[in-house]
Amino acid sequence: MGQGSQLSNPAAKLGHTVEDLLRQLEALQERERKLKKQLEEKDALARLGLAAEHVGDSIEFTDPNGAIQYVNPAYVALTGYTLEDVLGLTPADVMRSDAHSAAFYEEIWKTTSSGEIWKGLMTSVRKDGSEFTADCTLSPVFGPDGELMAFMCLRRDVTAEVHEKELLRSALSRYALASAGANDGMWGWDLVGEEVLLSARWRQMLGFAAMEFRGPPPEWFGRVHPEDRPALEHGIQAHIRGDTVHIEAEYRIRHIDGGWRWVLCRGLAERDRDGKAVRVAGSQGDITKRKTAELRLRHEALHDALTGLPNRVLFQDRLQQALRRSARQQDRSVAVLFVDLDRFKNVNDSLGHAVGDRLLQEVARRLARGVRSADSVARIGGDEFTVLLDSVGDPSEIDDVARRILEAVRQPIKVGGSELVVSASIGVASSASEDLRPEDLLRDADTAMYRAKSAGRDRTVAFEPTMREEIIGLVRIENELRQGLGRGELMLYYQPIVALPGMRLDGFEALVRWNRPTAGIMPPDSFLHVARDAGLMDRLEDWVLQAACDQVAVWRAGGHIREESHVSVNVSPDRLTNPALMERVQEALDRTGIPPRMLKLEITESSLLQDEHAVASALRDLRALGIRVALDDFGTGYSSLSYIHRFPVDVLKIDRSFISGLPSDSSSEAIVRAILGMASGLGLEVVAEGVETEGQLRRLIELGCDAAQGYYLGRPGGPETVAEEE
Ligand code: C2E
Ligand code: MG
Ligand code: MG
Repeated sequence: MGQGSQLSNPAAKLGHTVEDLLRQLEALQERERKLKKQLEEKDALARLGLAAEHVGDSIEFTDPNGAIQYVNPAYVALTGYTLEDVLGLTPADVMRSDAHSAAFYEEIWKTTSSGEIWKGLMTSVRKDGSEFTADCTLSPVFGPDGELMAFMCLRRDVTAEVHEKELLRSALSRYALASAGANDGMWGWDLVGEEVLLSARWRQMLGFAAMEFRGPPPEWFGRVHPEDRPALEHGIQAHIRGDTVHIEAEYRIRHIDGGWRWVLCRGLAERDRDGKAVRVAGSQGDITKRKTAELRLRHEALHDALTGLPNRVLFQDRLQQALRRSARQQDRSVAVLFVDLDRFKNVNDSLGHAVGDRLLQEVARRLARGVRSADSVARIGGDEFTVLLDSVGDPSEIDDVARRILEAVRQPIKVGGSELVVSASIGVASSASEDLRPEDLLRDADTAMYRAKSAGRDRTVAFEPTMREEIIGLVRIENELRQGLGRGELMLYYQPIVALPGMRLDGFEALVRWNRPTAGIMPPDSFLHVARDAGLMDRLEDWVLQAACDQVAVWRAGGHIREESHVSVNVSPDRLTNPALMERVQEALDRTGIPPRMLKLEITESSLLQDEHAVASALRDLRALGIRVALDDFGTGYSSLSYIHRFPVDVLKIDRSFISGLPSDSSSEAIVRAILGMASGLGLEVVAEGVETEGQLRRLIELGCDAAQGYYLGRPGGPETVAEEE
């Protein structure tokens, strides 16, 4: 039907043609409009292009589809591409860099095609393959009617700046210092260009203006403390070489104010494909506070607070190092001087700790002055100092130092208005002979020092290996004594004390003996110091007190002694002020039933040099019980005659060193006279000790001495000999 009717209708055929023609005409008009518009657009672009010719920044225009239509000369200079190279291509295709993801380019396209301007950093690849980073502004260009005509891309090369920022950022990100970063300065070091970039904060930390600056490495290292610089440089170099996983260094750096700041520097190298470091970046933070606290703690841990001298720990460390060094030197040795003040405890007890402290400080100063600069002085205990003599060539060097020290210590020391004279005992041990450990050397010097003390103090004694054996012997004595105390090996000898001039028996002094199975009867001087050092003195003295009182009770019961006579028991200084003494005395009296006046306690002068209050009250308590107190070995200690009246004692026992001079030595006699004179003034009884001759006895009688004790009158002996005498 259709075909046939069309063929049979010519008018319809004609009408179709007209419509076609009309449509073609419209199309022609449309094309003309478009062409006109295109011409206008070209014109506009040309005008824009003209301006772009002279701009320093790189500019490219694309058509609305993103195809490049125009590039300016700056673009050519920056990218190396000419217009012919890139015409019709999209910018993203031309210079696409692996630095950005596909999403990055999509995002730009989305932004600009929706009519917005995109700004940002973009890394692109030049024609020669090298990369550059530009600060880009991509904006759509609209025509007079608001229609999208083109896109314009403006690029400013910021490669150099970005590189620097990148350097810093890498330090930031690698250390995740985002938080700490607020206070840390950042640095980047381009190893290729030998350029260092230091952040504003880095500079501010040292007092510079905030502005960032670039400087050669000296600007940084030049400010580092000379002592710390080698370690820092070494640390950086080691990391650059690849020996370490990162840089971490603490050092002092000079602030603009001239002072030092402690900083912690951390850094990491960036390496090229061959592993060669091309730059290093990192942070630098101020750790002055932490470091000073740390150094103070360290100092405190290694130094003595009172004198500021190194302590035992530091001394041993130095000694260790010195020994190691000397092991490499054939003809050099190391010596340790063990310096102990003589009778320091007395000074401390009698004059107070404040005075004792001042004395120690002064001695410390003198010791430090007395040694050579390479040597070091330490305080390793109360009044114990040690001196390390490093690299000793000739033993006479040791003697010189020791002599200087003794001399320096001997000089009067002014403390709190009074003048003190002290001395020191020195023990010396040297590494010359054997391979020794620090503790061995110290122990040997200590041993020798004890020897110096027992040889009379205020002298130097050099260690000899036999001394070590003696020490071993002492340890054996200690063990045996400990056992002996439990096994009843102690015994008492009694020595008569005779009243003058009538020669009547006044009493006995109880003197301890140790019946040591391996050695026979031992005198007290051979084991009391061991008991004292081993802390056995209390037990020993308890036993003596009990045994002496028991003996008196036995004599009394047997009618061997008169009620007026007494037994004297020696009491050591520590014991006097110990409340246990009063209890034991009371117990002994209660148990034996002997009257208190039959018991005398002998104390030494050094007992009085303790806390004055404690001593006086102990003496008062004893006397309140009715017990009498004698001051033993009078004249050998510190107490002056005028000092005695402060303490309530009943008897003075003149030391035998003064008696031995009688009757010929006039100065001995003068002392004895003075003591007798003063004692009678104070109402004290006087006993002369160590009377060995008839001449001495006669002189003492002439001088008016109250009583005497000594070999001439009777040697100490067991209780049976005493009973016989009676
Ligand atoms: P000390 O209390 O001064 O005792 C006198 C010492 O002189 C005794 O020595 C005695 O044997 C000795 N002696 C007596 N007459 C003469 C003499 O004419 N010439 C000489 N050269 N010496 C004489 P000993 O028994 O060896 O005692 C020594 C020191 O041991 C005592 O000196 C005393 O300080 C201490 N001691 C003895 N027994 C005890 C005790 O039970 N406790 C305490 N804490 N010390 C004691
Ligand atoms: Mg005595
Ligand atoms: Mg005595």
